[in-house]
Parts: sequence; structure tokens; C-alpha cells
Amino acid sequence: MRAAVLSGGGIIVRDDLPEPVPGPGQVLVQVKACGICGSDLHFAKHGADMLALGQQMEGVPRPDREPIDLSRDIFMGHEFAGEVLEAGPNTEAPPAGTAVTSFPVLLRPDGAVDPIVYSNHVYGGYGERLLLSAPLLLPVPNGLSTDLAALTEPMAVGLHAVNRSRIEQTEKAVVLGCGPVGLAVIGALKMRGVTSIIAADYSPARRALAEGLGATDVVDPREETAWARAGAAGPLVVFEAIGVPGVLDEILRYAPAQSRAVVVGVCMNADTVNPYFGISKELSVQFVLGYTPEELAASLRSIAEGDIDVAPLVTARVGLDEVPWAFEALGNPEEHCKIIVEP
Ligand SMILES: [Zn+2]
Repeated sequence: MRAAVLSGGGIIVRDDLPEPVPGPGQVLVQVKACGICGSDLHFAKHGADMLALGQQMEGVPRPDREPIDLSRDIFMGHEFAGEVLEAGPNTEAPPAGTAVTSFPVLLRPDGAVDPIVYSNHVYGGYGERLLLSAPLLLPVPNGLSTDLAALTEPMAVGLHAVNRSRIEQTEKAVVLGCGPVGLAVIGALKMRGVTSIIAADYSPARRALAEGLGATDVVDPREETAWARAGAAGPLVVFEAIGVPGVLDEILRYAPAQSRAVVVGVCMNADTVNPYFGISKELSVQFVLGYTPEELAASLRSIAEGDIDVAPLVTARVGLDEVPWAFEALGNPEEHCKIIVEP
């Protein structure tokens, strides 16, 4: 089987991988489309740092599985959609040919749970075929194309951030950064009925996408800050969707008193903030990650029912051989938003 894999810090294509075989409770799926996620770019670049930070972290259950070995091939691709090929033994599943996506974890027959995100042994969406868990499959409704169904996962990240923020329709939202995460937040804010959504990004292309998804104001931070555009409007709900050092301190410095910051952009560097700003203005900071299975299903429904138009986010479709190029190309925000791999 063919798949693009992370190997020695770069992406290469393997032609001779063993075919995945579905066990009980599993389904073999032909990958039709898989979005490239910013977190995959992060992992390719900072994988060692991410694993080291994970080792230091307490307060969450330690995964009961082998640590990822960066010196071996790593399978990635968690924004996938595909077609059912066959079910494993004694497994109830949709018929062959059904278009599906899934919460990105694989339930093993022994009860263990493997995330389909970075793994030395669980295939992801940057390959021709992968295994999914029958109970977690989400059939793609309304004849939605699989390349748009592949945007279910990234849009769910925005929905989760907005749900967690508990923002009211009458509150003013500010979204800093209009990459895929910021755009997903904007789409979810619009669906929630939030009437004032100020989005900031340096890229004119991304600002245009933000307007398309429902931003009511867009600003180029070189010309006008989101804070200036919001004016003396009282507290804001600020979504940090950039994920670089300094942004959190900027929010604390400039946001009006009583504002809430929701951090959804993943920053891999240590960062410095001045708590004085936060305490003086009684600001709240909340970190959010991922989504629930219900949010993933809701995200698929809203795309399939046309409540949110994700098609403009797709700026390129590539085959497996072009995945190394795509990882490079996504470094330029002006050029690309979401690149879909079609293995
Ligand atoms: Zn993702």
C-alpha cells in the first residue's frame, strides 16, 4: 500500500507498506480525501519537543501505549473521509461504498484505544487505506463530496472552542488569526448567532475567507488593530487562533476589562505574559482542544446541510506524491488555506 509518511523530519512516500486488515469491530476504508492540518506541520517540525512536553505533563492519564519513535516512520492524517471497503469479522458496519468519516481513534479488539493522529503503527489519512472503528463511523449525508466531508474535523475544532467559550449572541467576538482554526471559529460563531465578529489577519486572502464564513468586520493588523475596531464596546470574547509567542500577552495588554480569552491556536514555544494586565482588568483565559464526538457529528451535519460553506477553504488538491510539496506550501499563508490529499 502507498502512504506519505513522516520520516527523519521530512515527508516521503512509501510504496510497499503492508495492507491494513480489519479486526473485529473495525472497518477497512479507502481514503478519498484527507486535509493537511497545521498540527501535522507542527509535529513534523517540533515532534521531539511535543513528545518531551507530553512526558513532563501531569494531570491527565498517561496513554497506555508505546511512546512514538521519531526515528521510525510516522503515519499521520486525521482529517479524513473515505469509502467503506469491508468490515472485520463479526462486525456490523455500513455497506461497502458508503462514504464515511470518523472520530479519529481506532478501537483495538483488546480494548485499547489508538489515536489516529501520529503513530508508528496505526495508518492515517495520508495513505490509500486505513482502519476505522465501526461504532465511531459517521456516514456522510446528503451526497456531500468526500473532499468537503474531510473538513468536518477542522470545523469541529472551531465549534468546540465556541461551545466552550459559552459566548452569548449579544457578546462581541474577536478572532485573532484566520487560518483554518480561526476560520472554523468564525463559522461556528456565525452559526451560534453571534452578531459582531471582528477577525484579524495579515493576509488579504484569509480576510476574504473570514468574511465569507461570517466575520462582520475584518482588519489588517498593520493598518488597524482588532482592539481599535472593537472600540469601547465593553468586554470581548477573544479567540487566539495564531499560536505564536506574544499573542497571549497582547490580548492581556489590549483587551477591555472583564474580557475572556479563548486559546485555540497551538503554541509550541514557551511564552511570557504579564499577569499584571490580567489581574488589573479581571481577564479570564481559557484553553481548549479538540472536540467531542457529538461536536464532530454536528460539524458534519452543518457542512452537509449547507449551513456553512467550506468549499472556499480548499485551495489545492494533491496526490500522495505531492504531499511533501504541500507541507512546504502551507508555510505560505497567502498561497494556501486547506490542502486536501487525495491518495
Ligand atoms: Zn486537525
